[in-house]
Amino acid sequence: MPKLNENFFDLEKNYLFINIAKKVKAFTAAHPEADIIRMGIGDVTLPIAQCVVDAMKKGADEMAVKETFRGYEDSGAGYDFLREAVSGYYKSFGADVPARDIRINDGAKADCGNIVDIFGEDNVVLVTDPAYPVYVDTNVMAGRKVIYADSNEDNGFAAMPDYGVKCDLIYLCSPNNPTGSAYTAEQLKVWIDYANKNNAVIIYDAAYEAFITEEDIPRSIYTVPGARECAIEMCSLSKTAGFTGMRCGYTVVPSELVVKNSRGEDVRVADLWGRRQGSKFNGVSYPVQCAAAAVFTPEGLRQTGENIAYYKANARLIARTFDEIGIKYTGGVNSPYIWFKCPWGMGSWEFFDLLLEKAWVVGTPGAGFGKNGEGWFRLTAFGDRDRTAEAMERFRKLIKEH
Ligand code: PLP
Repeated sequence: MPKLNENFFDLEKNYLFINIAKKVKAFTAAHPEADIIRMGIGDVTLPIAQCVVDAMKKGADEMAVKETFRGYEDSGAGYDFLREAVSGYYKSFGADVPARDIRINDGAKADCGNIVDIFGEDNVVLVTDPAYPVYVDTNVMAGRKVIYADSNEDNGFAAMPDYGVKCDLIYLCSPNNPTGSAYTAEQLKVWIDYANKNNAVIIYDAAYEAFITEEDIPRSIYTVPGARECAIEMCSLSKTAGFTGMRCGYTVVPSELVVKNSRGEDVRVADLWGRRQGSKFNGVSYPVQCAAAAVFTPEGLRQTGENIAYYKANARLIARTFDEIGIKYTGGVNSPYIWFKCPWGMGSWEFFDLLLEKAWVVGTPGAGFGKNGEGWFRLTAFGDRDRTAEAMERFRKLIKEH
């Protein structure tokens, strides 16, 4: 009889989105007249840019012609044309990331989980709390010890390292899901120095880099000195270009990132990662890689940029409303997420119920992202402009009348 991976029984039961769905279903059954506005789930809503879809169609057409048909892609790391395009994109915001350090994948979530394969089970993993749940769950599945760095109101939901705490792997996400906060270059330098001093590796999730507005917020950890020696970066086209249903992202493992093995020999982490991917992953489809490369052309950046600008304007609308009604929040400037303190000292779920019942608006209770999320709440700016404006009017009314 096979033995199970019993680490799975140590996973926290994550009922966040199941509970939300249940509550919304019960409410709509009791109130069929309710016109519900959903601002909970972090999925995009605008269609993919036309020039990107055109590139995908062209790639698909090539597959129907003997001379241009493509089977397995030789390296498994992604086509050179896409890796070069990603490298050029990095260069445009000041990060020197050669194409050889980039591997194309089917989205950041998979690699956030897969990367743990190359690290031993007895590593201590540091995760900021609250966090995107994948970082914790994948490490618990592998039987690793997870410790937390608190992101809270006092530090603006931007946890910083504690030199008294020792760890081997560090997950950072900036701009952050769920808190919308983003690290400055100075703050990232503190983390990089800590990692280099403690021989720790940073796993940096930049899935929301395209939403960064402020000049002093890095679009990549590699714009900060010392990162190439200690950091792996993951990024995705899901939110940048509406690829949540297309599936394409990229992971960077710099050639300078070297870790000692148990015999004291230097091992290039990129070599292990290449070996892992070569054994377990056969690449992203050619038409999708054609589409992804089109995102990084001037026209692709212009067209996808219009969608990002639309979401960012939604975020500003929410932030402006909260400024006016005096609700404390982070995010909304460099992020599609607005993370706010529940009014009247309410708990996250208590406020969820109130918002649903009185305003017919659905959001995400912060408590679902970790202990520091209790009493906080996440709204997303990925919705329709008019619906977002309508939700804000209802919010205003709720605050005034409740
Ligand atoms: N990282 C963060 C912080 C996310 O919020 C998400 C998706 O919501 C992902 C990664 C996963 O993105 P992908 O669609 O590329 O798997």
